[in-house]
Amino acid sequence: MGNYAKLIIKSQTDNLGLARITAASFAAQLDFTVSEIEELKVAISEAVSNAIVHGYQEENGEIEISMELSHNQLIIVVVDEGVGMANPKEAFKASYTTTDERMGLGLTFINSFMDKVEIDSKVEVGTKIKMIK
Ligand code: ATP
Ligand code: MG
Repeated sequence: MGNYAKLIIKSQTDNLGLARITAASFAAQLDFTVSEIEELKVAISEAVSNAIVHGYQEENGEIEISMELSHNQLIIVVVDEGVGMANPKEAFKASYTTTDERMGLGLTFINSFMDKVEIDSKVEVGTKIKMIK
């Protein structure tokens, strides 16, 4: 296994910056361009904010962010034990949202900024999103 790091945060928006900075500095071990690092920061922010807003619906919970280097790629996994999704595939559609005031673009950005994205989610169990770049 290549280098790795894990970060566990309380599901509070105040921790978004910490998650973003940690992932970006871990990613600095690879030869990403400045704009790739920016894309990575957006992807991690969107994944973690989904866990806070949808997974835990702004209530207390724990989010685990795992970062790993493997074969010159960065693998980031964000896990929450929140409400989960009945149909995670649908959530990838642009402008799909279950929250009226939102745009439904988070997963669309994640998909376009990362090379590979996998979602594993179960209602009342939680959601795991794996992103590779
Ligand atoms: P935006 O990201 O533009 O603010 P959004 O969060 O609704 O809006 P996406 O990030 O694309 O849009 O997510 C689409 C939908 O997938 C959400 O509305 C929500 O129903 C579901 N979803 C995403 N992540 C989670 C999660 N961690 N737990 C439960 N549901 C989720
Ligand atoms: Mg979102």
